[in-house]
Amino acid sequence: MTNIEELISQARTEFAGVGDAAALEQAKARYLGKSGSLTELLKSLGKLPAEERKSAGAAINSAKEKIEAALEARRNDLRRAALESQLKAEALDITLPGRGLSSGGLHPVTRTLERIEALFRSIGFEVADGPEIEDDFHNFTALNTPENHPARSMHDTFYLENAPGLLLRTHTSPIQVRYMEAHKPPIRVIAPGRVYRVDSDATHSPMFHQVEGLWIDENVSFADLKGVFTDFLRNFFEKPDLRTRFRPSFFPFTEPSAEIDMSCVFCDEGGQPRGCRVCSHTGWLEIAGSGMVHPNVLRHVGIDSEKYIGFAFGMGPDRLTMLRYGVNDLRLFFDGDLRFLSQFR
Ligand SMILES: [Zn+2]
Repeated sequence: MTNIEELISQARTEFAGVGDAAALEQAKARYLGKSGSLTELLKSLGKLPAEERKSAGAAINSAKEKIEAALEARRNDLRRAALESQLKAEALDITLPGRGLSSGGLHPVTRTLERIEALFRSIGFEVADGPEIEDDFHNFTALNTPENHPARSMHDTFYLENAPGLLLRTHTSPIQVRYMEAHKPPIRVIAPGRVYRVDSDATHSPMFHQVEGLWIDENVSFADLKGVFTDFLRNFFEKPDLRTRFRPSFFPFTEPSAEIDMSCVFCDEGGQPRGCRVCSHTGWLEIAGSGMVHPNVLRHVGIDSEKYIGFAFGMGPDRLTMLRYGVNDLRLFFDGDLRFLSQFR
């Protein structure tokens, strides 16, 4: 019966060599199946002499147990290996950063507009709004801009096709005209909004923003304009030592008129400008236009120009945003590139 020991060792070797459960079951059939080697041995028991039958039967049963034990052990091995490879395949890499939810934020120019509105509200100004599609009267005529003025040309202004007399407003002044039509003095109002002009380069966009301010009362002077606007700039840039200067200029709707410059926010410390690229080494930055409201403008909206007087100013919040954040290309604000915009969240 030496071939029984061989059979056991052969079965163990064969079980160890299979790679998966299906192959193991096939190997099992070769030993324990209906015509497997061990089953054949059992069948041959009947041919043995009676005195040998008992010990041979015991040996075959013992071999069967050993082969079944080897089979069960290999089954467990294969199951464990399958589980391990599945775990490896479905592994979670807990070191990967989460996807998270990206949050939106206010556009930098919107932040500037909100800041300007809050500062002027704190000194008693209302915030007014108006249509972006305007008529000729509110955009030009009421503002003392004559028919032949170059600002009215097609080169500067977007006119609406098939709608004579309608245009995209070129400044936010018409908001003030409408406000004066609807309100009696005293008037203190700022008018922020989008405006449109035929212009496009690194510092000009066909769509840009403006904020204009207006104060009409019985006793408003140029000194009030200087005080209000200088104070606003100091608060906006958080520079208490910021200085302004007013240079004579011309606008159809103010008389006298002045350009407002402010000391350079990048290189001027305590009245000592070092000079830099942004201010072209002058120490000054052009920041607004201003003046005392022209009597003709008051007359156009039915305000007694003998009794009332006031000042107006207009500035570009886009430029204020560029100066506040140190951005040197206006187009970045309107390209919609999130890599740029998300820095202001
Ligand atoms: Zn400078």
